Amino acid sequence: MKKNIQTLSSIVLSALLLASCSKSANAPVAPEKKDNAAKVLTYIQSLGFSQRNIVDNGDAYIVDDDIRFPKDMKVPGGKASTEQRWSGSKLTAANALNVRIKVDPSMTSMMPEINSAIDQWNNIGGDIALHFSIVDDAPYDILIRDADLGEGICGRGTFPSGGSAGNLIQINKTLIAGNSFAQRQRTITHEIGHNISITHTNEPNGAIVPGTPATDANSLMNGGQCNVGATVLSNYDKIAARWLY
Ligand SMILES: [Zn+2]
Repeated sequence: MKKNIQTLSSIVLSALLLASCSKSANAPVAPEKKDNAAKVLTYIQSLGFSQRNIVDNGDAYIVDDDIRFPKDMKVPGGKASTEQRWSGSKLTAANALNVRIKVDPSMTSMMPEINSAIDQWNNIGGDIALHFSIVDDAPYDILIRDADLGEGICGRGTFPSGGSAGNLIQINKTLIAGNSFAQRQRTITHEIGHNISITHTNEPNGAIVPGTPATDANSLMNGGQCNVGATVLSNYDKIAARWLY
């Protein structure tokens, strides 16, 4: 576990999946895939994540235990300045207004928690154009499914790519089953935050959202706080979401 309070504010960053990802899904593994993985690794490092927090997990790199970067993601081009990182990373306005979540059968037992999480993001209030809904079938933007993520890792999200929300949220259902309802829905709310590009408030990585403080103990987007962290979005979490969308 890392120190909880290290940094600045609600932070955001993101990433793009290769637009042609689905088209090439059945193609043989090509050298370019390996090359792209190297680019993804360089990109992760450019965001400020230290090497010791990056784990190679086969088809993706895992950072800070609960954020995945698919090796076939589209790495934003150009210099890694804050603006460019932002411009290439978040959902398009149209996609932000219609984020479709499909719940895998492995997670339907936690539908009340999922609905609570969605309600939090749908009810931020003020000047924001962000809306989530549950869909039963394809097309969808985010799949939520159960996964054994190992000891102590409650969930894992994916940053946006190509203007769309990150496509996968994994929840370690067995691990969080003993938590309170509020904490179970916190885990889901937190991972959804990653899938719309918000990273850990208490980690020094990503681009800082203007108007947010150096630290926010009430932030639901603080990392490493499964079963002990905030269960509702803080005022600054909402400011970050409004600034993005
Ligand atoms: Zn997280």
